[in-house]
Amino acid sequence: MTSGVRPVRGMNDVLPAEIGLWQHLEGALRELVALYGYQEIRVPIVEHTDLFKRSIGEFTDIVEKEMYTFADQGGDSLTLRPEATAGIARAAISNGMLRGQKHKLWCMGPMFRHERPQKGRYRQFHQFDVEALGFDGPDVDVELIVMMARLWRTLGLGRVSLQLNSLGTPQSRALYRERLVQYFRGHEAVLDEDSRRRLGGNPLRILDSKNPDMQALIAGAPLIVDHLDAGSLAHFETLQAALRAAGVGFTVNPRLVRGLDYYSRTVFEWITDALGSQDAVCSGGRYDGLITQLGGEATPAIGFAMGIERVVELLRLAQVVPVAHTPDAYIVAQGERATAAGLALAERLRDQLPRWRIAFGHGGGNFKAQFRRADRSGARLALVLGESELERGVIAIKNLRGETRQIECPMAEVGTRLEAEFKE
Ligand code: ATP
Ligand code: MG
Repeated sequence: MTSGVRPVRGMNDVLPAEIGLWQHLEGALRELVALYGYQEIRVPIVEHTDLFKRSIGEFTDIVEKEMYTFADQGGDSLTLRPEATAGIARAAISNGMLRGQKHKLWCMGPMFRHERPQKGRYRQFHQFDVEALGFDGPDVDVELIVMMARLWRTLGLGRVSLQLNSLGTPQSRALYRERLVQYFRGHEAVLDEDSRRRLGGNPLRILDSKNPDMQALIAGAPLIVDHLDAGSLAHFETLQAALRAAGVGFTVNPRLVRGLDYYSRTVFEWITDALGSQDAVCSGGRYDGLITQLGGEATPAIGFAMGIERVVELLRLAQVVPVAHTPDAYIVAQGERATAAGLALAERLRDQLPRWRIAFGHGGGNFKAQFRRADRSGARLALVLGESELERGVIAIKNLRGETRQIECPMAEVGTRLEAEFKE
């Protein structure tokens, strides 16, 4: 293949044969957000690079090595969004949406990270993202979590479980950070290169290391829960009590820190045992300081992002069968005159029967070839129009599934007969 027709590594086409599960999931997500009163927001795919540096944090995998950054013709440094929260926070500020107002928002779309592509990890991937701006919780923290618990139930996905932690406030975290630096300094020889670098910049990120050689050291590190301020502790306990009351199971994972710097207090991750090492399907947390940090009015907020590709894969593994949007009737016409009459009939039927999906068998060929295409389309019925039907002013309606049944009816009556005798 020449490079002109090669897809970009890690960026996938979603083909018609696969789209059913995507649409099934997207439909469930739209119903879910409507149920909870969240409104859609659409933000650009490209933002100023600085926005992501200032929000996600300089010492994160995303900013250090995963961003698609380029200079545009005017010399501005722009970046393809690696996640949605920063753009939504920016939109709230630049559109004057804050000033004491509250917003429950969601969005869905492609994100870009230059990672090593593997199953469940791509360079263009899609997220469903929910953000509640202006709420200090923990009631809204509970809402976001029960909302997703409902999604897993609705979709019939059982192999998803919740991990929870609290990162406290920036003040309590500063104290914890000191303790952590002390601990890791005492074991500097064991630190890998990444961790050594992070020790100076952002030592909490070391806890998120995926290096197996680092896990024993990380397991012995001081725990953030033991360093929470009273307010964060109360927030965390109320959240846990409410989840218990709602019947949502969870595990407190004291080493869950998340890969972005803007979180405070609640962080959570829905993980699965069905996808191997790409086990996070939905992650999020509270980011009370982010909007101020970006120059907006102090606004407490919480949000999460769900990885669409990973959930589509869970649906596939759970053998969820999406509703297929196959035609109800497929028009098979042979000959030039029949084709013209058939096209006119198709439009008439689409007007007359707006709930019926009418497909037309373009591409010619003999009846046999056309019936093969009609069958492959998944249509229930074939409407057959050849020279002889045309001469008699009739059309044949043929059942393609189940009992074979064929009738002939005058052209002018097709719509009424379909509705009366062939409705699904
Ligand atoms: P991971 O630990 O798997 O790298 P993350 O902590 O980087 O995930 P977030 O930035 O919180 O993930 O993104 C939210 C969700 O988006 C993840 O839980 C995951 O389902 C999905 N996701 C993240 N990166 C990718 C990717 N490169 N390809 C596909 N899905 C992804
Ligand atoms: Mg990641």
